[in-house]
Amino acid sequence: MWSTHEVTNQAASRGAANPWRDCALLRAHAQRFGAVDPVFVQAADALGAYVGASAARALAESANRSVPVLQTHDRYGQRRDEVVFHPAYHALMQAACAAGLKDWCWTEPRASAALERAVLFGLWNGLEQGTACPITMSSAAVAMMALEPGLRAHWLPRLCARAYAPDLAPAERKPALTIGMALTEKQGGSDLRAVATRAMADAAGGAWPVRLIGHKWFCSAPMSDGFFSLAREEAGVSCFFVPRMLDDGTRNALRFVRLKDKCGNRSNASAELEFEGAAARRIGLPGRGIATLLGMAHLTRFDIVSAVPGMMRAALDHAWHHVTHRHAFGALLCDHDLMRNVIADLALDWEAALLMALVLAEAFGRGGVYAGLAAGRQTPGETASVREAQALARVLTPIAKYWVCKRLPAYVAECMECLGGNGYVEDWPLASLYREAPLNGIWEGSANVICLDVLRSLQRDPQGLAGLRALVLQAGDARLTEPWAEVERGLVSGTAQAQIEARGLVERAATLIAAALMRVGAPADIADAYFGARIAAHGTRAYGTLSAHAPLKAILDRAFN
Ligand SMILES: Cc1cc2nc3c(=O)[nH]c(=O)nc-3n(C[C@H](O)[C@H](O)[C@H](O)COP(=O)(O)OP(=O)(O)OC[C@H]3O[C@@H](n4cnc5c(N)ncnc54)[C@H](O)[C@@H]3O)c2cc1C
Repeated sequence: MWSTHEVTNQAASRGAANPWRDCALLRAHAQRFGAVDPVFVQAADALGAYVGASAARALAESANRSVPVLQTHDRYGQRRDEVVFHPAYHALMQAACAAGLKDWCWTEPRASAALERAVLFGLWNGLEQGTACPITMSSAAVAMMALEPGLRAHWLPRLCARAYAPDLAPAERKPALTIGMALTEKQGGSDLRAVATRAMADAAGGAWPVRLIGHKWFCSAPMSDGFFSLAREEAGVSCFFVPRMLDDGTRNALRFVRLKDKCGNRSNASAELEFEGAAARRIGLPGRGIATLLGMAHLTRFDIVSAVPGMMRAALDHAWHHVTHRHAFGALLCDHDLMRNVIADLALDWEAALLMALVLAEAFGRGGVYAGLAAGRQTPGETASVREAQALARVLTPIAKYWVCKRLPAYVAECMECLGGNGYVEDWPLASLYREAPLNGIWEGSANVICLDVLRSLQRDPQGLAGLRALVLQAGDARLTEPWAEVERGLVSGTAQAQIEARGLVERAATLIAAALMRVGAPADIADAYFGARIAAHGTRAYGTLSAHAPLKAILDRAFN
């Protein structure tokens, strides 16, 4: 029909894929760490087929193009405070819940459940991340529900149901629930001690004996059935649970002001809200709200570590597909030495990030972290090996979160560049992944906060430090010993210099651990390549890793005067 030109040298459509079945290395590593149960293998294969199918990719695209809409009032002027999502979002939520991503760690009766869920969650994040937000919050919320006998009986079983029920109804009338978090306020997100929302006793409140008045600046997944929140009372900042609907079927006094117009994560809504005397109940001890919520943050941070290798792999697979189909200068792109170097370097980082996620997940499983939290226990395990695993999970989580989140934006950008101009166009999923990439670094503890947290926790947790040391030394690579001893001295020094260099220290610790994991889990020449690029060449420096001796004041004065 058209006479202007013939289309040539564009990569063919990728068609159906299965990122579990197609990736022998992912399967081999998962198996080596202990994810071998047939229930899991079948689930991974089914989820891989789902996320790799063009139908799911179309749902992800629709859900992110047609963003959620806030309806504050109905046509008669009555308050609605509802967010309307595209049907594709609900279809994805349905699929994620049916695959067990919300409940797996709590309901699958194996020590390997945390490891299995890490793989499954990575696969999901290769497809869509807006739905991953309510999934991770709902999964982590089980730890909080377990602390409160009233919620334990009625809410917990529904939260752990392998189902999705988006309709608005009191919890007891629903087969399945999702839960969100509303912590951040205008004046402070990292420093939650600044919370200004007030909590007041209401003797007539029955099951919900507290009223909250105040605002929250960010509340993602605002159609959740309830929210964990923070508010100030006489004893200090306490943790509260706020149901969306009250038991009599009326709406709780929770007003949505507007939805954020976000860079990425667009299928998911993030609302600004106000509590106008919202009914709530306290969770945990008065004045200990931030400490109580840290139990939940530990799990959401772990989920982020599991998510990132899946996002990396999705980006890498797109890059590889393109360079194996596109010719330039007389050869396929993948046959140009410099392009081979780029893709190989990306592949190294994906494998290292995956190993970090798996070793962390294995520690969560061995430490029985989920089982303990489900039983409402936050006390150390009974055997030495369980306590060691818990301590490792505690300190490795923020280290891994910092490091994989810092790698991801640069990683996706590089994959995008492999597609040339196409990569920058919304027809390909790299553009959406690129907008998504910085988010995991911002929420659940931004980088500086995480790195300072690592220093604090290592100083008071010698068992955690010993766990990290064992991870590095077990590799039997003498070249890692001295650098590790040096970084360890810095991490626990407690000096002002360590605070200034916290990012550099945590990054160095993460790459040494990754190098050790590569030494154990990869052939010698591959592990050597990783060591050469990331340790010997200091190849992974991020912003903020200037030495304590750098003239910081002079640089800032020069830039901003
Ligand atoms: C898409 C999206 C969804 C979100 N959803 C939710 C949600 O559902 N519920 C919720 O409660 N929150 C949510 N948040 C908020 C998020 O958790 C906060 O934005 C985050 O914790 C950072 O807080 P802040 O924005 O107040 O930044 P600030 O706390 O002001 O931090 C700004 C910068 O200062 C750094 N910084 C802070 N303290 C120090 C220090 N002591 N030393 C050095 N540097 C420091 C931080 O690392 C950061 O880089 C969401 C955010 C986004 C972007």
